[in-house]
Amino acid sequence: MNGWVVRALALMWAVLLSFGVLAGEAKNVILLIGDGMGMGQIGTTLLYSRTMLGRDLRMVELMTPGHTAIVLNDTADAMVTESAAAAGQIATGKRMLAGAISMAEDGKTPLRTLLEIAQDKGKAVGLVTTSGITDATPAAFAAHLAKRSDEVSAAEQELQHRVDVLMGGRRQFFLPESVGGKRKDGRDLIAEARTAGYAYASTAAEMQAVGQTPLLGLFNTGNMSFELDRGRTQEPSLAEMTVKTLQLLSAGKKGFFAMIEGGRIDHAAHRNDAAATIRDTLAFDEAVGIAIDFAKSHRGTLVLVTADHETGGMAVIGNSKTSKEYVGADFKAIAGIGASFEVVLKELGTKPAPERIREVVKQYFAIDLTDAELDTVARDTVKSLDPANYNYDLLHSLAFVLRPYLRVAFVTQTHTAAPLALFGAGPGSERVGGLMHNTEIFGLIRDAMTPQRRPSGKRGLSSQ
Ligand SMILES: [Zn+2]
Repeated sequence: MNGWVVRALALMWAVLLSFGVLAGEAKNVILLIGDGMGMGQIGTTLLYSRTMLGRDLRMVELMTPGHTAIVLNDTADAMVTESAAAAGQIATGKRMLAGAISMAEDGKTPLRTLLEIAQDKGKAVGLVTTSGITDATPAAFAAHLAKRSDEVSAAEQELQHRVDVLMGGRRQFFLPESVGGKRKDGRDLIAEARTAGYAYASTAAEMQAVGQTPLLGLFNTGNMSFELDRGRTQEPSLAEMTVKTLQLLSAGKKGFFAMIEGGRIDHAAHRNDAAATIRDTLAFDEAVGIAIDFAKSHRGTLVLVTADHETGGMAVIGNSKTSKEYVGADFKAIAGIGASFEVVLKELGTKPAPERIREVVKQYFAIDLTDAELDTVARDTVKSLDPANYNYDLLHSLAFVLRPYLRVAFVTQTHTAAPLALFGAGPGSERVGGLMHNTEIFGLIRDAMTPQRRPSGKRGLSSQ
């Protein structure tokens, strides 16, 4: 070959690389995190979907040989993690202290995140959740904070990073106290974002009308509603937010990185609310389906699904109220439940009489509790037996008395160290397999976004 042919081929190679056409490069990355979504949440929801909806979860399409792993998530200082350290470990590849947002163990050195790496490559970036957009999981990708509770700073940093799509709840951290927000500095970050060129949406309809980035969508003062309660609101579903995000982010030439979180699976499981946990996991699965369909029509898209940690120790149990063993969950009863525990608790108030509990449980759960069960809820006897447990007062004992009726049980109201699942498709997903640690997800995604970088070849638990 003479010189100009070699130069022409080299140029073509470079052009193909830069457009992400060559195999092995993930031009687009969609990372879907189910907060609190352990194997129990996936398994229970899968059984529910098959029994009540007559179909598999969409995420099952990604659970293929060679692309499915079991993931551990212990941190620098804890066996059982919370969302900040877990998301930070995924976002930065380094072990983290509980409660820190993408910060080194010294508490002051920011660690580079996948979102920052993607931005350096000229990719568009997006963060979406049904929890607060300033909550630990999204914050860990675009903020660096010593404490996850510093959500007013998370809001500032996410906007400073000019994240192209930011959608979720907790508008309160963007607004000054004078208008009901939580900001003591008097700043109105929504007004500031608008001045900086952001489109702003506070309802599903407003979101649908937005045609370009950057977009800030804040759909609730606090967390977005549980999927079970969303029909009473103007909020978009996680799937609708995912459609909009992929549509907006894919407009650029250099691809994108998007983190989509089912943020309230965790909250429902903390409350031991079986129906709300299943419904939010189904809503998350719908978003996974949107990502899978997008990847099918956009070559070079890596889709990964995982969780930050498991919450509640959720499991379908065998024993029923009638002592018929191994009967499994009453999904018909669960499908008939009309509201989340969050809504039910508001109905009940703080010290409801047994009769009031009977009415409310009948109304929302279509279950007739016995006098002894009503007494347990009214006196909150489970709480007094287990004072060390995390507690949502009445909900603790309500979940306990509903257990033999619904046959979905929870071990605790806190997080557990139960192993998680990781599965995916697209460039880089061939490195998903066996037993992994969540810090390894970082390198997998970083390498997939970098065409020259070859996998290190070393598999197994990372010791960093
Ligand atoms: Zn949690």
